[in-house]
Amino acid sequence: RLYNEVQELKGNIRVYCRIRPFLPGENRKQSTIDYIGENGELLVVNPSKPGKDGQRMFKFNKVFGSTATQEQVFLDTRPLVRSVLDGYNVCIFAYGQTGSGKTYTMTGPESATEKEWGVNYRALNDLFQISLSRRDTYLYEVGVQMVEIYNEQVRDLLGHGSSQKKTLGVLTTSQPNGLAVPDASMLPVKATSDVLDLMQIGHGNRAVSATTLNERSSRSHSILTVHVRGTDLKTGTTLRGSLHLVDLAGSERVDRSEVTGDRLKEAQHINKSLSALGDVIFALSQKTAHVPYRNSKLTQVLQSSLGGHAKTLMFVQINPDTGSFSESLSTLKFAERVS
Ligand code: ADP
Ligand code: MG
Repeated sequence: RLYNEVQELKGNIRVYCRIRPFLPGENRKQSTIDYIGENGELLVVNPSKPGKDGQRMFKFNKVFGSTATQEQVFLDTRPLVRSVLDGYNVCIFAYGQTGSGKTYTMTGPESATEKEWGVNYRALNDLFQISLSRRDTYLYEVGVQMVEIYNEQVRDLLGHGSSQKKTLGVLTTSQPNGLAVPDASMLPVKATSDVLDLMQIGHGNRAVSATTLNERSSRSHSILTVHVRGTDLKTGTTLRGSLHLVDLAGSERVDRSEVTGDRLKEAQHINKSLSALGDVIFALSQKTAHVPYRNSKLTQVLQSSLGGHAKTLMFVQINPDTGSFSESLSTLKFAERVS
């Protein structure tokens, strides 16, 4: 059963699109989404060109409409998560403009109920459940790191005191232990409740230096990395796998005529790292020999889980509102290039 599911996802890069629902106060009548097909088709329409002329079709491995639940989304993500136990490196990230539902998909809404938990919690929960069910044959050890990349600087989100303010180095060659950021705190976790605690800490640390948490979190990438080591109790052989769960900075283009100073610098850093990510995935999808991992801290940190035998899943997040049409189109084009 498990094996079949993993086989099904053998393709190395998958792209899922998720449309968030309208929020209270938004005008439901003004949607840019025309049609969602059974086989991953998405038809969007330009609000200023209604009718055939303004339509554009995109194709994904899957499209989740606005009524898709967190559980449904996870069902299609689980096989990838499980392959970590078989020694794969997996990267799951959410791309889209601020307000499109990236954090909702990855983590869940603020003070989420169990039903609203995002991919992060569900993934860890699933890993713990499987390791429990295999405990007679395997010993799994799970450790978690959490870092933030802001203005091309990597910071520890699970550190204490001064350590969380330090800029961390990233190793650009692949390491036998799979650690790209060796100095980020690695905390052992044994159960989902440990993860919930850690995320609280990470969340809190993110807020420390922020003007307002929301502003800052939309301009930095946050990466939760789960390292798994499995030991076969009979033979003593070990397997390592890792899972990167990434909530990317907002992809919205910033009007250069309107921002200056720090805000402009932030925007340029975000722009650079998101295009570097796009370039890496594009190179991988084209099977080019040279993959430009070194062009950003983001791609350096994720290197072990992009390419090679790694498996990558991108959630393309869409805000259905017509006011967001041009950002949605640029998000969809980013995805189109790499899928
Ligand atoms: P982002 O992280 O991309 O900036 P958020 O995840 O914060 O966006 O989502 C913006 C708002 O929309 C939040 O209030 C969030 O709870 C809500 N939201 C996003 N996706 C969904 C969804 N699928 N169902 C219900 N509410 C959602
Ligand atoms: Mg967010």
